[in-house]
Amino acid sequence: MERVFNADTTKYLGKTVKLQGWAQTIRSHGKIIFIDLRDISGLSQIVVTPQNEKAYSQAQKIRPEWVICLEGTVKERPQGMINPKLETGKVEIEAEKIEILSEAKTLPFSIEEDGYEIGEEKRLKYRYLDLRRGRLRKNLIARQRVTAFMREFLQKEGFIEIETPLLTKSTPEGARDFLVPSRLYPGKFYALPQSPQQYKQLLMVAGIERYFQIARALRDEDTRGDRQAEHTQLDIEMSFVEQNDVMSLLENLISEMMKKLYPNKKTIVPWPIINYQDSIKKYGTDKPDIRENKNDPDEIAFAWIVNFPSFELDKQTGEIQPVHHMFVQPQKESVSFLDKEPLKMVSTQYDWVCNGYELASGSIRITDPVLQMKVFKLLGMDESDAKGKFGHLLEAFEYGVPPHGGIAPGIDRLMMILQNEPNIREVIAFPKTGDSRDPMMDTPSLVTEEQLKELSIKISKKKKGKS
Ligand code: ASP
Repeated sequence: MERVFNADTTKYLGKTVKLQGWAQTIRSHGKIIFIDLRDISGLSQIVVTPQNEKAYSQAQKIRPEWVICLEGTVKERPQGMINPKLETGKVEIEAEKIEILSEAKTLPFSIEEDGYEIGEEKRLKYRYLDLRRGRLRKNLIARQRVTAFMREFLQKEGFIEIETPLLTKSTPEGARDFLVPSRLYPGKFYALPQSPQQYKQLLMVAGIERYFQIARALRDEDTRGDRQAEHTQLDIEMSFVEQNDVMSLLENLISEMMKKLYPNKKTIVPWPIINYQDSIKKYGTDKPDIRENKNDPDEIAFAWIVNFPSFELDKQTGEIQPVHHMFVQPQKESVSFLDKEPLKMVSTQYDWVCNGYELASGSIRITDPVLQMKVFKLLGMDESDAKGKFGHLLEAFEYGVPPHGGIAPGIDRLMMILQNEPNIREVIAFPKTGDSRDPMMDTPSLVTEEQLKELSIKISKKKKGKS
């Protein structure tokens, strides 16, 4: 007999079905045993009566979270027993056969509630159990729907999904790199990408014109509520475009997605476009929360911030640094400030913000190798340094480069907001703790002396801590 999912049982009234899943709760009412059976689609109520002798004796053994397979008849629930909160609340399945597939120890925590009150360490150590709770399952499914929508939308718009390498080169892109030692080239390192920025620009030189990737970006930074060392971006790059083209593409994509997947959320279209300086003056930040009612969980206030300065001074070191990154094209009128008053330059950067969060940054890119070199120099690199780090990009621009620009919305943050979650860990299947550990895999972890030797690495000092 073919397996039926719990959510579909209502279509099989009067028929015999085979169900499989976890026994979430088991209750006895007099002689009758009720089991709430859970599978990926939801719950259904199983009824076992002593008349079905074999099934009944099996049911008596079952404890919470045992995995079972059963066959039974789908029946309408008696009046008064209907559960309007449950999708399958009008029916129940009278079990005729029950097979126990796997037993389970008592879980370290309850999975029936939202789970916010349980300590993070415990939840992440047993993440595979934590993910059994309905809230997290819903978040993962919602996330998949969102990324599936993005893929479909972009493919229809002529975008090509392309994977870029995870083993790349360490270049100063704003954050600290994660380094990967090379075994074949002792003393040399790959870096994990802080974003596919340079690859996507090189794909534009390659003539791809419309690229996207649901890409992992890795930055060795301290984690925070809305930040993890690795995060996922919808990375986009387009050729022969201006700021407005990229902005309207994303605005259309997200507006269509909201209509289809989140019809109950209140959003305003078109998104307001706010000047950076105005935002700072009016809201004191470049990621303003412009919701009318900040207590309304269904209000989503998207906006664009534009006319960012190209550069700013680092608050701690006083050094000049790009507001976004060093490939951002300045606005035409402000290129002439580069030599003498670079802080007056205004860039083509556009940020997508929502409810006080920055969801994406993007820009039109520099394509003139001379201008790009000037920017590298402004940021403290000399010519040979810049060529050593970014020679590939400068050289590529000498072989016919189309004007191009892009953006990279953060999917974790977007999902956090759409699912009304307090932090991005709730929308990531296997996140790290606030201090960048994975208590389930127990990583970061020590490696063997042999592994280190193969990589020609010596650990100079072991910090005290958990091994
Ligand atoms: N690579 C940039 C980032 O990760 C986004 C972009 O400029 O497209 O923020």
